[in-house]
Amino acid sequence: MVREQIDRIGVVGAGTMGSGIAQVAATNGYDVVMRDIEREFVESGFETIDDSLGRLESRGSLDEEPATIRDRIEGTTTLDDLGDCDLVVEAALEELGVKQEVFADLERVADEDVLLATNTSTISITSIASDLEAPERVVGLHFMNPVPIMEGVEVVVGEKTTDAATALAHEIAEDLGKTTWEADDKPGFVTNRILMPWINEGIRAYDEGVASKADIDTGMELGTNVPMGPLTLADHIGLDVCLHASETLHEELGDRYQPAYLLKRKVEAGDLGKKTGEGFYEYE
Ligand code: NAD
Repeated sequence: MVREQIDRIGVVGAGTMGSGIAQVAATNGYDVVMRDIEREFVESGFETIDDSLGRLESRGSLDEEPATIRDRIEGTTTLDDLGDCDLVVEAALEELGVKQEVFADLERVADEDVLLATNTSTISITSIASDLEAPERVVGLHFMNPVPIMEGVEVVVGEKTTDAATALAHEIAEDLGKTTWEADDKPGFVTNRILMPWINEGIRAYDEGVASKADIDTGMELGTNVPMGPLTLADHIGLDVCLHASETLHEELGDRYQPAYLLKRKVEAGDLGKKTGEGFYEYE
């Protein structure tokens, strides 16, 4: 498959990332099939897309009506609906078992020349593809959150990923208006290997009374020129997503990647950040 043959993009998962990827693909003229396991999750993905398109329109950032863009996206709970897609991007839960199951299903329904990409933050591309008959077409296409706003996409190359699959991943991301960089299939790739310890250290600093939440965030924003401090950023990413990512890094890279206790407690309490209305801060 070459870029010119790609018209229809499948997205697995309609959560924070899946809905964002679907929106960006539709904004760039692709037909999209967005699949989640329950109808309510698909609907919630569409709500996120409507809100985001509304905001972008009010800022004058869209070339088309939001409704025209939205109409390119078909929502479904049926896996087989991904069967006529020319590329599929998986953005389901950050758990190896879930991802392996999704890819086994995708291998069954997708044509054999279809590129299968994963948006995983930290899980090895090679392990996600390990039980497949054709692991060479699996690549990491790691979009950043929020997808419609963030310019960067990390292309991650698994042990078996072919040069052609890697090149196509770069081309597609660039077609979606993104700028790419490439990482080898090492834990956390470039971004999360460096970001997750930073977030966990921010949480530990708060838990150990170094400063208030607001002062930790302000200190990092004004002191190191980042747009968001670690606690605010963790809330935006989702505390469960941060915990899963930190656990994977801890398992692979050892003690310096241990997740903060308070991150675990917050996830156990169901306070997952912005998406549940409460994390380190409260949201309307
Ligand atoms: P999320 O919890 O918001 O959404 C995940 C969605 O996947 C849920 O709606 C869930 O119902 C669905 N799902 C679970 N199993 C499924 C299946 N078998 N088929 C279809 N859908 C299924 O999570 P998210 O934040 O969107 O993260 C998705 C992926 O993107 C993860 O791998 C995560 O590590 C990665 N990622 C997240 C961020 C971030 O900031 N949140 C950034 C980059 C990458």
